[in-house]
Amino acid sequence: MVEREGVAEPFLPEPARLKELLATYLKSDDIDRIMQAYWFSKEAHRGQYRTSGAHYISHPLAVAETLASWCLDAQAISAALLHDVMEDTQITKTQIVAQFGETIADLVDGVSKLGRIENQSWEEAQADSLRKMLLAMAHDVRVILVKLADRLHNMHTLEAVRPDKRRRVARETMDIYAPIANRLGLNTIYQELQSLAFQHLYPMRYRVLEKALRLARGNRREVVDKTMDALRKRLPKCHVQAEVLGREKHLFSIYRKMREKRLTFSQVLDLYGFRVIVADVPTCYLALGALHGLYKPVPGKFKDYIAIPKANGYQSLHTMLIGPYGTPVEIQIRTTDMHHVAESGVASHWLYKDGHPLSECQRTTHEWLQSLIEMQSISKDSTEFLEHVKIDLFPAEVYVFTPHGRIISLPRGATSLDFAYAVHTDIGNHCVACRINYESMSLRSELKNGDCVEIITAPQTSPNPAWLSYVRTGKARSQIRNFLKTKPAVHWESDIQDTFEVKLSIVTENCKGVLARIATVMAEEGVNITDVSMDDTGDRNKTTTLYFSVQVTNRRHLASILRRVRRIVEVVRIHRTRERSLIEKVKNP
Ligand code: MN
Repeated sequence: MVEREGVAEPFLPEPARLKELLATYLKSDDIDRIMQAYWFSKEAHRGQYRTSGAHYISHPLAVAETLASWCLDAQAISAALLHDVMEDTQITKTQIVAQFGETIADLVDGVSKLGRIENQSWEEAQADSLRKMLLAMAHDVRVILVKLADRLHNMHTLEAVRPDKRRRVARETMDIYAPIANRLGLNTIYQELQSLAFQHLYPMRYRVLEKALRLARGNRREVVDKTMDALRKRLPKCHVQAEVLGREKHLFSIYRKMREKRLTFSQVLDLYGFRVIVADVPTCYLALGALHGLYKPVPGKFKDYIAIPKANGYQSLHTMLIGPYGTPVEIQIRTTDMHHVAESGVASHWLYKDGHPLSECQRTTHEWLQSLIEMQSISKDSTEFLEHVKIDLFPAEVYVFTPHGRIISLPRGATSLDFAYAVHTDIGNHCVACRINYESMSLRSELKNGDCVEIITAPQTSPNPAWLSYVRTGKARSQIRNFLKTKPAVHWESDIQDTFEVKLSIVTENCKGVLARIATVMAEEGVNITDVSMDDTGDRNKTTTLYFSVQVTNRRHLASILRRVRRIVEVVRIHRTRERSLIEKVKNP
């Protein structure tokens, strides 16, 4: 921003484009109120210019126009117009409250950066401001909608900014703002932010790819036209009324694919995709059937995001077909409603959300925002909080099931322990073992799509520092850290009073998974296992002897454990031993 004193302000007309957009969905009272915010902001920014040389008001105006294109309410649009007055002019929050009310003032405050405290590094100041904004967003999601529209306009005008600042802003957009847009299902702005950030972070790569794409457009025209034609003819024949749209893949997603799969540009064959938009859900599946009859589908590429929506509420059927000349063609099939959500996520249907039941997208957003508040309450400082948030913003996901069939979505690479924390903090804090698809597995096993996961808990167990090395989600990580911080040592004073330690020797058949089965039974009995060792000096081909040190509450508890372990078919013998384990004897004869 540049300030120029004494330069005469030229006459600026009313913002015609904004008014036109607003008139399509707001009442005239609302538009009048928004205009008051416009004149107020224009006056406050008098004498200020963008680095590009444009009048400053052009920026808040562009932000307001973006929000109006999402049909947001009058409060959000007013806040967009006022979003920089607290940060960049003498106007205070009290003045905004007096003029426009508490809600609009809170929205403006939410997007305003904090002043840098003395001795604070740039990163720390940045983390503090981001935390403030994320928390404001958790209370009112419109804060982030204003901020994303603000960032979009800044990215569009980034050319005018100093190169070092340009890179910093582009990096932040790539790492924080684009993923947030994705998390909220604001797909259009997500793609745009990503593409602009890519352009400024890697200008050379961007230019080379752009040129290659321009050339390919000509070369592959025929395939695209042929496919489009075939789709448009086939669907009505199968009694499917549909709108078919062709689309070119975004530059950044092509670049990412090349990097991840180590492909050259010419090896990326699916530069084009098609969208089939229909009236309702049954027709989606009809259209799918019709298209699978037209071209052969590529096995393993079909995804049903209608039955199992993505975490950000996105729904569609995805399939890949082998099109003309053997070219793979990606198809997305969705209803008109799903299409709106896919384009603008949480911002879609904003105006009539009150009368409607919460959409899937609004529900998942709400859950995510709640988890942010939870993470904040147990983070040491802004930097730690931001670290948790970033972990949570990874877009790749796996979908797994609870034993009751509830779907839980987790970032790719998440383990059973992440799952336990995703279900409930208490389940995470007390989990001892798990069963994946009815088989005992370690808590650190990575989950795959469709896994059915059951967590076994025991009241005596609690998190230990090693857990931090195999969790992937921000929630699990912050909860474990919090537990370790508040309950210093690995803390069971009151529990332990009533327990006593016994040693058990268990002879089992030599087969896979038996140790896990025994551990599971013990866990179900609420036993704390303090030590396990194995006799590997015996007849290794037939039997193994396991030595457990466990804490039990009383004789009856012990008897119940012995009875249950004995019932495991592979267990040959179990008895309580007062001797040191064989291993100890060998080690210290
Ligand atoms: Mn701004």
